[in-house]
Amino acid sequence: MSIQKKIKVGILGATGMVGQNYLKLLDNHPWFEVVALAASEKSSGKPFQEAVTNRWLMDTEIPDDCKEIVVDDVKEVRAVSEKCQMVFSCFEISDKELIKEYEELYAKEGLAVVSNASANRWTEDVPMILPEINHKHLKIIDIQRKRMGSQGFIVVKPNCSVQSYLTPVFALEQAGFEVEKMIVNTLQAVSGAGYPGVPSLSMIDNVIPYISGEEEKSEKEPQKILGSVVGEKINNRSTLNISAHCNRVPVVDGHLACVSLKFAEKKPSREEILNIWSNFSSKPQKLNLPFAPLNPITYKEEENRPQPRLDRNTDKAMTVTLGRLRECKVFDYRFVGLSHNTARGAAGGGILNAELLVAEGYVS
Ligand code: NAP
Repeated sequence: MSIQKKIKVGILGATGMVGQNYLKLLDNHPWFEVVALAASEKSSGKPFQEAVTNRWLMDTEIPDDCKEIVVDDVKEVRAVSEKCQMVFSCFEISDKELIKEYEELYAKEGLAVVSNASANRWTEDVPMILPEINHKHLKIIDIQRKRMGSQGFIVVKPNCSVQSYLTPVFALEQAGFEVEKMIVNTLQAVSGAGYPGVPSLSMIDNVIPYISGEEEKSEKEPQKILGSVVGEKINNRSTLNISAHCNRVPVVDGHLACVSLKFAEKKPSREEILNIWSNFSSKPQKLNLPFAPLNPITYKEEENRPQPRLDRNTDKAMTVTLGRLRECKVFDYRFVGLSHNTARGAAGGGILNAELLVAEGYVS
């Protein structure tokens, strides 16, 4: 699919870890043009390159087109909205209600809001989209538009580690093998905590077996993603029980998940599972979206893979890399999943959601 005229987009939280990843990944995007950058009051009024002095963390230069864009204050909703058709929301305020409120204000101004924040993940008419799994949930946008009284709406991305284990589980369920229980042990990269994040003296030579709020998100969000739209809301799939342990580890990028799972009834053979995973493809691949990985799931046969440093960038850093599929002595099977948290789990995932919205006619 090609589009006539690029869609004008803004980034709310452009100076942060996820915001910078958006800037990097949107450079030369075929459908989107970055025209507005916003952050806190502290950064507003400064040209972007000045606002990120000594804290530009990407391995590429600031895109030339963005260096001189004067940063707006996220709270200046009207000023930002007048410049763009869609915003990527990745700003952080400790008061989540305030984030929720601002995202709604942008939607009420008629913008599509593609959010990485958790504030609206449990709003009943806001879909939490992993495009390969629940693209059909987009139909609830019509209900949301009525509530907003505008053509604007909010779509959220789930937590940054969910796709590492939920995409392979969804592929198995779609093939007729329902999963009943899972134990998920995540090893999450430091970039997941934003910048400056966890102090280096707490992190080097260490593992921190706690990430605030993360276990609850890892256990609960899959239920909404695997749910179905009924009437004016999304009914959760409450029959999948997940127990999560979330750990922060001294890795820069890439969240790993060690998973044990039990099927509800039928149990596939190892060969069947590998076949299902290697043939799994979904709507983003069918629509040939620019950020869609060729293969949403990549399986590594080597016994010591996946590894964050070696595998996180596979297929534009958008694939979920799996390995170590073997029988489990307590449940049925075990495997390891890996995905890039700031790409697939944050900015790349947000861009894929935005592309899906364009391809499905929700943004033009
Ligand atoms: P971060 O590096 O701390 O960046 C925070 C951003 O929010 C900055 O642009 C900051 O602007 C802005 N901000 C701070 N206070 C603000 C205020 N009062 N009003 C408006 N803007 C304000 O955080 P991050 O890692 O990018 O995370 C951003 C969001 O994405 C969070 O909700 C996080 O949970 C979510 N997320 C992160 C990841 C990840 O892997 N890092 C993955 C998925 C989702 P200034 O520079 O001006 O302070």
